[in-house]
Amino acid sequence: MIGLFGGTFDPVHCGHLRAAHEARVALGLDRVLMVPCGDPPHRGRPRADGEQRLAWLRTAVGDHPYLIADDRELRRNGPSYTVDTLAELRHEVGPSEPVVLLLGVDAFLGLTGWHRWEQLLALAHLAILHRPDSVLPTADPTGDPLQRLLASRRCDSPCALRDSPSGRLHTLAITPLAISSTAVRRLLQDGGDPCCLVPDRLRDALMASDAYRAACV
Ligand code: ATP
Repeated sequence: MIGLFGGTFDPVHCGHLRAAHEARVALGLDRVLMVPCGDPPHRGRPRADGEQRLAWLRTAVGDHPYLIADDRELRRNGPSYTVDTLAELRHEVGPSEPVVLLLGVDAFLGLTGWHRWEQLLALAHLAILHRPDSVLPTADPTGDPLQRLLASRRCDSPCALRDSPSGRLHTLAITPLAISSTAVRRLLQDGGDPCCLVPDRLRDALMASDAYRAACV
C-alpha cells in the first residue's frame, strides 16, 4: 500500500516529515511518495523554484527507507493537478494496489475546489491528517459535499484501506506540530535560525540560501 503526500514544500519542514512518518506507521504503508507541486493551481507561485524545493526535500528525507522525494509533478507541464498525479501512479502500480492520498485537514477543507475532485476517490483512498489548528467537518448525509463524503466513505479502521484499491476515507490524528512553511520562510527572511523546525541536515542549506531573503514571503 502506497501513500502519496503532495505539497508545495516551500520549504519542507518537520511537520511534513513527522506527518508522513506517522501516517506510514499508522496505516502500514510500504512507502510514502512526497511530491512537490510544480505549478500549484490553488495558490500563488512558490517562493523557491521547483528544482530548489526538490533538492531540499531530497536533503530532508536523506536515505530514509520509506519517505521518497518524487519529482513527477515537476516534470509535468501545466498546473499540478492531483487527479493527474494519482492517475499516473495508478497506471504504474496497476488496478488492485491500494493507494492512499494523505491530506492535512486544511487541504481537505478545500477539496471541492480541486480539479475533477470527485474522481480522486476512484483512484485512491483519502487519509485526512488532523492538524493543530483545524477542525474536521461532521459527517452528515444531508450536509455539504464534504460532510456527505465523510458520511458515505469514512472507515474507522485503517485495515479497511487494504481491502480495496481506492474509495475509502480515514481520519488520522497525528502529533500536533504547529510548524508551517510560511513561518519557516518568515524566520529565514528575518535572518533567524530554523533549528528544530527543519531537519538538521537541511538547516545549513536553508540558512545559506537567499531564496527567502528578499521581498514578501
Ligand atoms: P504554507 O505555510 O506555505 O502554506 P504548509 O506548511 O501548510 O505551507 P504545504 O506544503 O502547503 O505546507 O502542505 C503540504 C501538506 O502538508 C498539506 O496537506 C498540509 O495540510 C500538510 N501540512 C503542512 N504542515 C503540516 C504540519 N505542521 N503538520 C501536519 N501536516 C502539515
